[in-house]
Amino acid sequence: MSAPHDAVPGAPGPIYMDYGATTPVDPRVVASMLPWLAEEFGNPASGGHAFGWRAQEAVERARAQVAALVGADPAEIVWTSGATESDNLALKGALQHEDARGRHLVTVVTEHKAVLDAAQQLARQGCELTLLDVRADGRLDAEHFRDALRPDTVLASVMLVNNEIGVVQDVEALGAICRERGVLLHVDAAQASGKLAIDLRRWPVDLMSLTAHKTYGPKGIGALYVRRKPRVKIAAQMHGGGHERGLRSGTLPTHQCVGMGEAFALAAAEMDAECERMRTLQQRLLQGIEALGGVRLNGDRHRRVPHNLNLSFEGVEGRPLLESLPGVAASSGSACSSARLEPSHVLRALGLRDEQAHASLRLTIGRFTTEREVDATVQYLHTSVKRLRGRQFPT
Ligand SMILES: *Cc1c(COP(=O)(O)O)cnc(C)c1O
Repeated sequence: MSAPHDAVPGAPGPIYMDYGATTPVDPRVVASMLPWLAEEFGNPASGGHAFGWRAQEAVERARAQVAALVGADPAEIVWTSGATESDNLALKGALQHEDARGRHLVTVVTEHKAVLDAAQQLARQGCELTLLDVRADGRLDAEHFRDALRPDTVLASVMLVNNEIGVVQDVEALGAICRERGVLLHVDAAQASGKLAIDLRRWPVDLMSLTAHKTYGPKGIGALYVRRKPRVKIAAQMHGGGHERGLRSGTLPTHQCVGMGEAFALAAAEMDAECERMRTLQQRLLQGIEALGGVRLNGDRHRRVPHNLNLSFEGVEGRPLLESLPGVAASSGSACSSARLEPSHVLRALGLRDEQAHASLRLTIGRFTTEREVDATVQYLHTSVKRLRGRQFPT
């Protein structure tokens, strides 16, 4: 079945090239959620009557759909409010639970702020933190990683797909190293679900963060995978009521769980065909933009998801490239860390200068992106990059 391209909020305004920030909710996901908002209202934890049973059944069906996409057992899926909460639960939960064994945590400079800030908070509370650098292509060197693990290392956290540059880390190999050393591996997979095959039956990964809204589901719902064989134990961060086997208390939002389940089921069914289509659009976009000359692709050219292009433009350094592109909704190499205009910590880690980072653009495509939108984006970019370059180097 093909995606319902016509059904998309395609409205006037800029072309949406920011699927890495969030995706539209697939209309089929919206349809699956509505009955659980409009008609059903039972609390999935109400074990004494049919209102609760129906809600519980829906939540468990959705849990199985989420588990299926990543090759997990449904009992290994803990609902959260999104990947930020999952990252916090994984890092703080593991370090707190293993406090007697060690206090060392290893992660990577290019991680999402949800991992980096949680790690910094743990460091303030007495944990020791090692932040690993990446190579110029954005990939983590396995030997470098191995050398960082110590007898008191409790957890390593490495993302599967980078949110800014789309680069894929070899978490299978890193997990094997962790197993040798008795270190837990947490993987932030917020940008990976539906974009590449994940198989937790085979992958030596202990904890994995997931979110719905980067995969055509609603915002405000996510999950943490917690391995059961061998059993991984973490300390809860949210107390009260003992939901989710005591790991995350709080009444479950049935409609949100159902939406994430439907989104992940669609991803499982359509991922292969969709990625092929994305790859074609990505190459069309890249070739069109590279025709400008003086364009640098940030992050490994091949080990990246087909939805992401992160580009720097020579000769527009220090210029607000994104501001001169009103026709395109994208992310710049500066906005990613929000309110303040700081150069992206990820691009800095690849060795880009501040000005180069500011002159960078993240274009992320997705399910509802059309060839026409790709071509129009190329045209917009040609116009504004040429204008900016002309201004900088007047003839
Ligand atoms: C979006 C994102 C997050 C945060 O997820 P939320 O569900 O918005 O909290 C964490 N990690 C990565 C890699 C992301 O892309």
